[in-house]
Amino acid sequence: MHRTGFAFHEHCMWHDSGPCSIFPTAGGHVQPAGAAEHPETKRRLRNLVEMTGLIDELTPLKGEVASEKDLLRFHTAEYLSRLAKLSERGHGDAGDCAPVGKDSYQIARRSTGQAIEAIDAVLRGDCDNAYALCRPPGHHAERDQGKGFCLLGNIPVAVMTTMEKYDLKRVAILDWDVHHGNGTQQAFWKRDDVLTISIHHDNNYPIGSGGINERGEGDGLNFNLNVPLPAGSGIGAYLACMERVIIPALTAFRPELIVVACGYDASAMDPLGCMLLNSDAFYSLTQQLLDTAEMLCNGRLVMVHEGGYSEGYVPFCGHAVLQALAGSSISANDPASKEISLWGQQSLQPHQNELLIKAETLVEALT
Ligand SMILES: [Zn+2]
Repeated sequence: MHRTGFAFHEHCMWHDSGPCSIFPTAGGHVQPAGAAEHPETKRRLRNLVEMTGLIDELTPLKGEVASEKDLLRFHTAEYLSRLAKLSERGHGDAGDCAPVGKDSYQIARRSTGQAIEAIDAVLRGDCDNAYALCRPPGHHAERDQGKGFCLLGNIPVAVMTTMEKYDLKRVAILDWDVHHGNGTQQAFWKRDDVLTISIHHDNNYPIGSGGINERGEGDGLNFNLNVPLPAGSGIGAYLACMERVIIPALTAFRPELIVVACGYDASAMDPLGCMLLNSDAFYSLTQQLLDTAEMLCNGRLVMVHEGGYSEGYVPFCGHAVLQALAGSSISANDPASKEISLWGQQSLQPHQNELLIKAETLVEALT
C-alpha cells in the first residue's frame, strides 16, 4: 500500500466551458451541442472512487488558489490580465478553443493550485505519490494564450513553483494525453533540468505541433522528446513505448520527481482520440511508472488530470490509475476492458514499431 494523495475541489467543476467548442458556431447543418470538455467525466471519476470505497484509502488534499506570483513563472502579465477581464465579463475565448465563463480565471487558478498541492504533498513527505483531479486542464495552455480547453499551465506552474521551493535539480514530465503537450514543451524548451516527454497521436491537436524533430533548443536540446504515434495505436504500442523509450529516457535523466500529464483520451472510447487503450492498459502504464519512480526517485510520482472526453469510460481508466498508485486491491468492475483487449491491432504493428525505432534514437542522445 502507498500513501496516495488525492486533490479535488468542487469549484473546479464549476468552470463553464459553454457550447460545443469543436463546432463553435452552431447553425447551418450544425445542431447546437454541449462542450467536449465538461465536468461530468471528472465528477463521475470522483464518484466511482467513492462508490468502490477506494477513496477511503486515499489521503484527501485541497490546494489553495495559485498565486499570481506563481502563475507569472510561466505566463505573461498581459495574458493573466486579459484572462481576468474575460472571466469577469463571463464569456469569451482565451486564445484558440479555450472557452472562458464567469469566474473561469479564479477556477483555473484553483485547478493549478490542486496540481501545486499534489506535488508539494509528495515533496514534503505527506504522501508517497499523488493525483490531482483538477479542471480546466492545462497542457495546451501557452505562455500568452489559452488553447485546447486549457487556460493555465497547471503542470508548468506547479513544477516551476515546487522546483524552487524544494531546490530540485531534475524533474521529468511525461504527457500521455492523446494530444501533444505543446504548452509544457514551450515552458521548458530551453531547459536541461526538466525533461519533457509527450506520447500522442501524430498531428492531432494542435495541428503542426509535436513532431519527433522538436527536441528543445540551447541548453534544452535533447531534453524534449515527442513520440507521435500513428492513429489506431493500441495496448502493445503504448507498452512497447514505455519499455523502449520512456523508461530508458527517465533512467538516463535520473529525475528527483516524475509528473504525468494524465489524460484519458487515448482510450478506445474517446470521442476526440483515435487510440485503443482500455483501463487495464492505464493500470499497467501506471504500474511501470511506479516501479521506475521507485528505482529512481523514492517513488515520487504525481499525476495531474488532463483530457479525456468519454463520460462513461474516463472514470474506469482513472480508477485504474488511482488503484495502481495506491497499491490497492479495490478495483472497479470495468464492463468494457475485456472486449477492447480482444480488438484487432492491439499488438504492436510494424508501422508503429518503425516510429519507436526512431524514438529510441532520441533516448541515445540523452545518454
Ligand atoms: Zn487531450
